[in-house]
Amino acid sequence: MGIQKAAVIGAGTMGAGIAGQVANAGIEVLLLDLPSDGEDVNALAQRGKDRVTNPANPGVLSPEHGKLITVGNIRDDFDKLADCDWIAEAILERLDLKKDLYQKLDSVCHDQAIITSNTSTIPIRLLVEDMPIEFRKRFAITHFFNPVRMMPLLELVAGEDTDPAIMAELHAFCDEQLGKGVVPCADTPGFLGNRVGCYAIQTALHLANDMGLTPSEADGIFGRPMGIPKTGVFGLYDLIGIDLMSDVAASLVSILPDGDDFHTFGTKLPLMTEMIANGQKGRKSGQGFYRSKDGDKQVINLETGDYEAVSAFHHGPAAKAEKDGIIHILEDDSRYGDYAWQVMSRVLVYAAGLIPEVGDTPVGVDDAMKMGYNWIKGPFELIDDIGVDYLIERLEKEQRAVPDYLRQAAGGSFYSTDGELSTLVHGGGLKAIERPDGTLRFNDRKKTLNPIFENEAASAYNVEDVVLVEFHSKANALGSQSMQILDKALDHVSANSLDGLIIHNDAQHFSCGADLREVRSYFEASDWDGLDRFLDHFQQTGLKMARASFPVIAAPVGLSLGGGFEVVLHAKQVICHANSNMGLVESGVGLIPGGGGCKETLYRWLAAKECDMEQAAWEAYMALGYGKTASSPILARDMAMLRPNDRYVNNRDRLFSEAMAAVKDGSEQVAFDRPPLKMAGQPLFEKMVNWANNMVAKGKLYPHDAVVSTEFARILTGGEIAPGTEWSEQDLLDAERRAFLTLAKSEATQARIIGLLDHGKSIRN
Ligand code: NAD
Repeated sequence: MGIQKAAVIGAGTMGAGIAGQVANAGIEVLLLDLPSDGEDVNALAQRGKDRVTNPANPGVLSPEHGKLITVGNIRDDFDKLADCDWIAEAILERLDLKKDLYQKLDSVCHDQAIITSNTSTIPIRLLVEDMPIEFRKRFAITHFFNPVRMMPLLELVAGEDTDPAIMAELHAFCDEQLGKGVVPCADTPGFLGNRVGCYAIQTALHLANDMGLTPSEADGIFGRPMGIPKTGVFGLYDLIGIDLMSDVAASLVSILPDGDDFHTFGTKLPLMTEMIANGQKGRKSGQGFYRSKDGDKQVINLETGDYEAVSAFHHGPAAKAEKDGIIHILEDDSRYGDYAWQVMSRVLVYAAGLIPEVGDTPVGVDDAMKMGYNWIKGPFELIDDIGVDYLIERLEKEQRAVPDYLRQAAGGSFYSTDGELSTLVHGGGLKAIERPDGTLRFNDRKKTLNPIFENEAASAYNVEDVVLVEFHSKANALGSQSMQILDKALDHVSANSLDGLIIHNDAQHFSCGADLREVRSYFEASDWDGLDRFLDHFQQTGLKMARASFPVIAAPVGLSLGGGFEVVLHAKQVICHANSNMGLVESGVGLIPGGGGCKETLYRWLAAKECDMEQAAWEAYMALGYGKTASSPILARDMAMLRPNDRYVNNRDRLFSEAMAAVKDGSEQVAFDRPPLKMAGQPLFEKMVNWANNMVAKGKLYPHDAVVSTEFARILTGGEIAPGTEWSEQDLLDAERRAFLTLAKSEATQARIIGLLDHGKSIRN
């Protein structure tokens, strides 16, 4: 039958987000909340819809998708649920309210309708204990993570009576249409993500306090060095809301059995009770463990509750761990290393102790932490990295208990890469990792491959006669080393007549841009020839991609900004994830895109919008000058960033296999054929320069913005040349390099770059 129409009940944080994601799948969705007393009876549901369609932080891919959400209330619109094939309940976490709602749903929903709850903590058994068997057969838990559009994880829980066919249908729907990484879970408290994730957060919180670390020190350790987002623990508390996160922990305390180690650290710190009472609840209230005061970041002193300036945290072993593996911080004998070991060893032991209660292999736990908490590696992958035997020995030395499942892995590892990727099953034996057809993660595939060539910034792999280039520098910033691997990989494909090339990585973000540290090293050494050569090589590698005789696909996820997006722009086809965010943002640091980005923006405006040269140059000037970004591939197409043969996929686990299939097929590839352009010349150049100067005079742009804008104008119009003068693609590239160098030599641009690199923010000058 399939899910043609859906409803979400409860339009709060989660319900509105779920409705947005259903709309993103192109499905009509009815969003209901309680009726309001005021003028608008649907005010609550409308507020939810407004939040999820807000362009500043959109839960929908485009305004058109937002239109698929209809709002209503459960009093006046309840009978409309009779048409819905899936009803997702996301009301308050109260058993009585949920049970009452299910009784009402049973009387109105059609007899094939699937009903699911988004509960975080209530066992399915209790939710449906009063319901007839026919209802229980069609009931499951679909546990989404916040924000729903962005977090890949969806935990799917069957009840004792849930029909397996319904589970299969839900699984396929959530994976293929909603684009989620579906992790089937047992009906155990907190399922997988929150069980391990909250334990990790609570442990890191309490031990930081007990061991006398400041929040910024703790986040500097229990963050990037461990492959955990930089929000760490205190930053994450602020992001989620100190009140909400404390409630989640308290609710886990209330449902976990007495012997569970969660109880050791399940409570709030005493200071947090005061903070919540004072309204210091985190980012939503403007202050929490951190706050911003007069543009400077401050952090709370855990002893006094006063705010202090955040001092930059740098610890050598932590930096080494971020680059080369967690062992470097676990082995460090400072108090930071001790903190890292105390926290992480507990988390790893806790995770291992959950097997077989939550499943008989580590895959679910690892997937849940990667997709629900954005960890780069799951706990068992981390154990494999540091060594099962290392962990056991160190625990034994400290006379700590070693979980059974950890002992079962002694002398080996949890994952095996002999041939196909498999995992250790509790009780013995290996089992191949099963994922739904068509899903393929490069990070899984990589475990069984060796690079054909690599350096510190990038690697190239041969995957079934397709060469895959992976960027892997810090934030995947692109420097000369990254481009060398890409260039070499392109040559390798042609020399060996391979099928094609894919540029992809399974990190959170494709690339944050060109490596500004490398740009800085050139200007600090006044090595202008070196900088010009770097840019020229970047540009020529882009042209080589665009003109290749074989398929060249960029398959980005997350952010593709600046130089990262310039690489994407030169692929013969882009197949990206639906949550891709892209744009050329160089103007913010006082630069212009010097890797072919200005040139491509001009050509694309000319082609996509049937603009004449003056209009196209103006659109490009606005887009580049303001460093505009598109928060979805659909918006990117509207902004002439993508071409008609580019497309997106909903589920990032399907991105790599889609790209592989497109290389093998080859029919969607469109090579670049860039004819010479008749440039707009001096009149438009002067108009642009005047516009920027006026904006500065009105206080709407900073003085150096006008300098940068002038360079954009010079490239996009040709500058002081006669209108209609012909420029080739290479002329545009030469103009980009000249402008880039001019700006890189200016003190104001250098100050912006140094500000960003040294203090995390670009100076406005
Ligand atoms: P919320 O408080 O933001 O929203 C709940 C909404 O439900 C409110 O708009 C409320 O008016 C509405 N509501 C209450 N009773 C209702 C009823 N009888 N009929 C219709 N609407 C009703 O809550 P939330 O954070 O969105 O959480 C919703 C559910 O999702 C809970 O079960 C929660 O445990 C779960 N959950 C929350 C998160 C999270 O991060 N917030 C994550 C995963 C799961």
